[in-house]
Amino acid sequence: MSRSAKVNQVILIILDAVRAEHLFGLINEGKLPNITQIAENGIKCSNCITSYPAITFPCYGNIVTGSYSGYFPKEGNAVPLYHWLNRMDPPSTSKKFPFIRNYGKRNDLLKINKDIGNNVKTIFEQAPDGNMLSSTSFLFRGAYFRLASHFFNIEPIFKNIEVAFKNPGFYFSNKEVSLITVGYVPHTDGIMHKLGFDHPNYINLIVECDKYLGSLMNTLKTTGYYDDTAVAIVTDHGNYKAEKNVDLEPFFQQKGLIPYIPDKGIGDFDCNFGSVGFFNIRGDTWHHHPTIQQMQKFKPSGIGKQNLNIFEVLWEIPGVKFMYYREDDNKPEKGIIHIEFQDQNSGKRRNGTIEYQGFGKEQKTRYTSDGNDFYGYNENEKSARILDNKFHTIEEWLEATNHINFPMIIDQIPRYFKNPRSCDIIISTLGDYSFNYEHGKTVGFSPYSHDNGLRESMIVPFIIGGSPEIPQMELKYCKTTDMVPTLLNLLGIKPHSSVIGKSILN
Ligand SMILES: [Zn+2]
Repeated sequence: MSRSAKVNQVILIILDAVRAEHLFGLINEGKLPNITQIAENGIKCSNCITSYPAITFPCYGNIVTGSYSGYFPKEGNAVPLYHWLNRMDPPSTSKKFPFIRNYGKRNDLLKINKDIGNNVKTIFEQAPDGNMLSSTSFLFRGAYFRLASHFFNIEPIFKNIEVAFKNPGFYFSNKEVSLITVGYVPHTDGIMHKLGFDHPNYINLIVECDKYLGSLMNTLKTTGYYDDTAVAIVTDHGNYKAEKNVDLEPFFQQKGLIPYIPDKGIGDFDCNFGSVGFFNIRGDTWHHHPTIQQMQKFKPSGIGKQNLNIFEVLWEIPGVKFMYYREDDNKPEKGIIHIEFQDQNSGKRRNGTIEYQGFGKEQKTRYTSDGNDFYGYNENEKSARILDNKFHTIEEWLEATNHINFPMIIDQIPRYFKNPRSCDIIISTLGDYSFNYEHGKTVGFSPYSHDNGLRESMIVPFIIGGSPEIPQMELKYCKTTDMVPTLLNLLGIKPHSSVIGKSILN
């Protein structure tokens, strides 16, 4: 143990798609006795802000790295989203066309480990030495990876961790216990999408997690490791139920817009769209992002073939309230993101900008709008103060907007758009519609999803306890990227320079 270490081991459990409100609701109902024991005797926060967009990647990857999407040739997590197009900056000169990455495909999932790039480090890679275990955490770079083989049973995710303490020699030749363990439970997300966050099967799954966590805690106690192990729980994002559902396939057909086919390099656009839509549009070639003018006068390859204004086409999609896109000459270190907003009361279209400068922790952003702001920041005394026409850091946005809708979104949108693998236009219905549209096809009709900037998607639980060395405290707010630096702090390890979160113990 280093002199500044409070614990000798950390175990981080990441549950997929559980709102803070729901987890703490179950705690208050007495349904999660083991998570309650950890939370009540340690650090708890029911107002932890996740990454925007509130989708598994980036959110879960950002927890494991403590960083965010960025200009990945230089800085930041190179994975902007669950689905992305491999466009490079500068554009690729190879004849091969940009591939579509989709982590929903079994063959693509583990590629995340390479995809995140070398400018960020997983929590495992940030420790100078020691045994590292990933139990079903698909982002496992630097760790021994155990996959819970049964896709309907979460018990092995926790049992695999118990082995690292009962019989460490089973995984590690030096027979020492795991220094850093990450267990990831994807199952809660699967059931949430299929059946909903209010379905008994979803709630039972969280209750089961608590039960297996209890068994793990018992193992730590009987093996003598409980008192010097920190046990942490966080989730990647929340969830919502969309009110309406529309099949977008006929809409794009009528416009003559043909979905991109990466093998052939043909087509006009690529899109994935829950309630927030991410559109890639063909530029000079598929390697090039288009200019604004190219999108305003776009020649579709389908029927009709008259020039289209892509922005106007996207505004025809029902329920769209926000639109975001880059200025043409943006640089990684400085640029402008345009915001268009449909005022629901007046029906008028309004405009704003997010200007950004700097990288990583030093990134500062300024938000301006043509009159009253779009996010409701003005209606609240604390958040209204940050609308001062000045540039602000992530910490300043967090402090000013953690308690309302769209927490930290001004900081987050430029981090997404700086990444050359990001799309060209984002549109959002804020969860009113869920389109379930992926790369040319409507893939389902479930109204349950997550992705928007509202609190239902953005607010997650943040809990660290176990060892009596963990101080008892309740945080008013924090962010998911604070988890890794806090756990490293407890181990007496300095986080990597790419980490944007900060230890909440400092
Ligand atoms: Zn998720």
